[in-house]
Amino acid sequence: MVVMEQFKREETYRCEVCGFHYEAKGDAEACEEGCEEGICRNDVTAKALERRA
Ligand SMILES: [Zn+2]
Repeated sequence: MVVMEQFKREETYRCEVCGFHYEAKGDAEACEEGCEEGICRNDVTAKALERRA
């Protein structure tokens, strides 16, 4: 389950598997789906706030 969490003062959604934060719930869900299957989806993780610093 993705969880809402404050990150850098923004409401974001966190993938519970890898811990990356996303602005869009859909992106966090896509990340989590990939993570649970053991697939690293670069197209999704590229949107993670951790990757945008
Ligand atoms: Zn993930």
